[in-house]
Amino acid sequence: MEDRFRLREAMVVGDEVVCLWEDGHESYFPGPQLRRACTCASCKGEAHLFGRRTLPTLRPLPPEAFVPVAVRRVGHYGLQVVWGDGHDFGIYHLESLRRACPCGECTAQGGGSYAPMA
Ligand SMILES: [Zn+2]
Ligand SMILES: [Zn+2]
Repeated sequence: MEDRFRLREAMVVGDEVVCLWEDGHESYFPGPQLRRACTCASCKGEAHLFGRRTLPTLRPLPPEAFVPVAVRRVGHYGLQVVWGDGHDFGIYHLESLRRACPCGECTAQGGGSYAPMA
């Protein structure tokens, strides 16, 4: 795997998830952006991927649902985020995360929009 898709360290800082990559790049993901991109079965992320006929109802989430409280690595490919409302089912693919880096440098290169993992 390329260095830019390998995670050196991840942590929660305030309401952001910070990823430090092996190539030295740092990504700051705002909590709300990440939570909305959650691909777990109980969030909407997977609905399109698996072509369900009925979309799950989007429940209004409390404000704490958008606040990350902890991050855990999942194998070599993923990052799990635990949210303030206890939700922790979503695993973010590292490659997708890096591609979604919202910093100016990356958005200038066409990143910045979170594409759910394939
Ligand atoms: Zn979820
Ligand atoms: Zn970046």
